[in-house]
Amino acid sequence: MHDVATSLPSVPCPPDPAGDDARLEIAIRLCRERNVLFTPLRRNVYGLLCRHGGALTAYQLAALYKVTHDKPMAAAPIYRALAFLQKQHFIARLESTNGYFAYARPAGVPPDVFFICQSCGAVDEATDPFTASRLDEGAARCGFRVKRRIVEVEGTCARCSADKPFTAHRR
Ligand SMILES: [Zn+2]
Repeated sequence: MHDVATSLPSVPCPPDPAGDDARLEIAIRLCRERNVLFTPLRRNVYGLLCRHGGALTAYQLAALYKVTHDKPMAAAPIYRALAFLQKQHFIARLESTNGYFAYARPAGVPPDVFFICQSCGAVDEATDPFTASRLDEGAARCGFRVKRRIVEVEGTCARCSADKPFTAHRR
């Protein structure tokens, strides 16, 4: 078994400008309206994802939980909390990295496109009806029935690009 604590990603780019507390408050209100239980563990896992700003696996979350709450947490309850948060559309799972991250807006329309920084792990999101309709058109042409669409684009975020300027553009 590998040491999960050493595989924690570096600090990512600053997350949602609305702030983590604002997202948590919205999530608390939505859970109340939906009459679903926002247990302390669910809140804590969501809070960790909001504060981190990038994508984390369940094992990385368990390791972070141990550090921030000073008590161990098994992966199974974390997975159950993550399943709840996904069902409420507060977070998403990235197919390419198997990491989870908190949406910028827990009450909004779920985004279609995810931009994943390979340097710092930050995840940016976009809602792009054009991309969605083009994918649906392509699927319809070959008689494919779309169940869900996830577009993940890997590269370098603006902050990491600023740290390492693109030399090809130099004159
Ligand atoms: Zn970055």
